Amino acid sequence: MPQIKQLVLTPRSSFLRIKCPKCGMERIVFSNSKRKIYCEGCGELLVIPTGGKAIINSQEIKKVD
Ligand SMILES: [Zn+2]
Repeated sequence: MPQIKQLVLTPRSSFLRIKCPKCGMERIVFSNSKRKIYCEGCGELLVIPTGGKAIINSQEIKKVD
């Protein structure tokens, strides 16, 4: 059985579809964002950069292929 390389299938950074917890507006963000990202609908802070993987303020997070 050939071994599947996990790194190829799950890169460290990816695009995520998230949903604002306040107004429900969806948007696509980068998981390793270096900038704060605010909701375009209500101004809620959605993505908080940490230097590595960003903190996502969303109840729903879906990976975008
Ligand atoms: Zn919002």
